[in-house]
Amino acid sequence: MHNAVPTPRPARRIAFFGGSFDPPHRGHLAIAHAAQRALALDRVLFAPVGTQPLKPEGSSASFAQRVAMTQLAIADDQDFAVSLVDAPSASGRPNYTIDTLAQLHAELGPETELFCLMGMDSFLNLPLWHRAAALPFAATLVVAARPGESLDAAMSHLPDGLTAETSTLPASTLHGIAVLQYTLRNTHGQRAPLYLLPSLYVEISATEIRSLLLGGGASEKRLKTLVPPAVADYLKEHGLYQ
Ligand code: ATP
Repeated sequence: MHNAVPTPRPARRIAFFGGSFDPPHRGHLAIAHAAQRALALDRVLFAPVGTQPLKPEGSSASFAQRVAMTQLAIADDQDFAVSLVDAPSASGRPNYTIDTLAQLHAELGPETELFCLMGMDSFLNLPLWHRAAALPFAATLVVAARPGESLDAAMSHLPDGLTAETSTLPASTLHGIAVLQYTLRNTHGQRAPLYLLPSLYVEISATEIRSLLLGGGASEKRLKTLVPPAVADYLKEHGLYQ
């Protein structure tokens, strides 16, 4: 008689995608789709943040409104979901991504491989994040290029205690999406992969959408090029950002 060796269950690949989503827009959807395809993600969790530590001025729309809009934005994508893991904390403490990722690990269990999706502007700010050098070990970072943000600077602005060890240059193609792969190393010699999606240049930001609405210059047609139609309708119905 021999002991049956349990077949390992394949890990679920889930990406945490945090942001203000004030409002969610087509740029968010584009990078989530690209990451999902390139990395064969089972699910992307869009998590509106309660209090972004680096945005002390806060968001314009309420947390509930940002959650509602994010739900509308992703409604057609069955592999996308809204997560409340980054909801405002009762203590008023800002939401630190390192804590959020620990909470997600605890909720999702060891059979989940966790990724953390962000745009290049966020990545270039990483040295300012709480316990930044620990982040790539809490979840594999997936960074999307963004207009106006240098790709070359990316690996020379790493948080203290991290170095980029190797890269694949030029980019390889994963499931039709260009990807640069790096290995990050910390001072203990631990290594973590990082994926950079270099060819996404979606010229949309939430700031631009808010100022368009504030200035009254957002025709319905223009707005729908920036946000999904259901979000455009919500913005209009609730008179947001005017
Ligand atoms: P704001 O203009 O208010 O700062 P935003 O458009 O950057 O907002 P956020 O909700 O703050 O949107 O972004 C969440 C994440 O999505 C961040 O990591 C950001 O870098 C990334 N992101 C947003 N828009 C794009 C885009 N067009 N291309 C690449 N990454 C993006």
